[in-house]
Amino acid sequence: MDFVVIDGSYLEGGGQIVRTAVSLSAITQKPVKIINIRKKRKNKGLAPQHVSAVKAVKKLCNAEVFGLKVGSEELTFIPSKLSPKDFTIDIGTAGSISLVIQTLLPLSLGINKKFTVKIKGGTDVKRAPPIDYVKNVTLKILRDFGVLTEIEVLKRGFYPEGGGEVIFEVKPSKVKKFDLVEHSKSDLVEGIAYVQNLDENIARRMRKKAVDLLNKEKLMPNIKIECSKGISTGAGIVLWNDTLGGSCLGEKGLRAEIVAERAVNGLLKERKSGMALDKYMGDQIIPFLAFGKGIVGVSEITNHTKTNIWVVKHFLDVDFEIKEYKENNCNGFTIEVV
Ligand code: ATP
Repeated sequence: MDFVVIDGSYLEGGGQIVRTAVSLSAITQKPVKIINIRKKRKNKGLAPQHVSAVKAVKKLCNAEVFGLKVGSEELTFIPSKLSPKDFTIDIGTAGSISLVIQTLLPLSLGINKKFTVKIKGGTDVKRAPPIDYVKNVTLKILRDFGVLTEIEVLKRGFYPEGGGEVIFEVKPSKVKKFDLVEHSKSDLVEGIAYVQNLDENIARRMRKKAVDLLNKEKLMPNIKIECSKGISTGAGIVLWNDTLGGSCLGEKGLRAEIVAERAVNGLLKERKSGMALDKYMGDQIIPFLAFGKGIVGVSEITNHTKTNIWVVKHFLDVDFEIKEYKENNCNGFTIEVV
């Protein structure tokens, strides 16, 4: 059997290599062997979040899989035909639900009937997209380009207990050609300031600070407050301005105003670049850009983006051209499939 072999220590050397590789293996039906998994992370090998994501793809394409356990640094994934089905997947920790969604999203391009997955784990955890970012930035942009998915957040889950629950529905989709270079310059900034098991006043303070800072920039904030109860405790704020996002997760000892300020500053920095996609969407769009072709504009070319391009090229016959983009007061890059 001919395997695509991927060195998981390449460049960023993180979990995304595993997610993209397994997902593309299922769509292209090319068996893959990933070695040196998450070599550049302190806790090398597969973490619970990655094991759950691979298990979900395995289920959807009846794959034969070797090395699928927490800590494993080598994984072999031999896919069969994609056969959509509904199921529940419990990461079992506060592992990121958003990153499991990131793994399943591209399957929309390879299925012939819809499937729905209930995912249990963390909705708002460090170094992963907050669930409101997934809903209001990632999925919204992809929907505009033909990728038909929906999420419903039933419960929030924070580190360490988790307990979050999200329903993710994926419909057969065909991605359109991308032409998304510059930001729309919309001045509406929507958002959500949320707390779980904490005083509502924390959410109100985050919103107030964000509104004040955004008003100063002559933007139009519309930020909701959400207070919930659950088995885990946490807070945060997510903002979105058309195709751009900015967020910050609360931490013990971090003032609500600082949390809000960090989220606003993140968003303003992205707006300043004038480009359509922020640095996070820059890496998340890559598999879809490979299928849809066309061009996107990003504020930064991160190692995650470079790494994702490298992984995609193992499975698909595509080339990406990256160019600096300085027109119309923009300061960023374009990524074009050539
Ligand atoms: P590792 O533990 O190996 O770092 P990982 O599986 O957590 O692995 P990465 O390879 O680091 O993942 O990928 C993280 C993903 O989360 C990337 O797609 C990145 O764009 C996204 N991401 C991280 N933080 C945010 C954020 N604040 N907003 C939106 N997306 C984010």
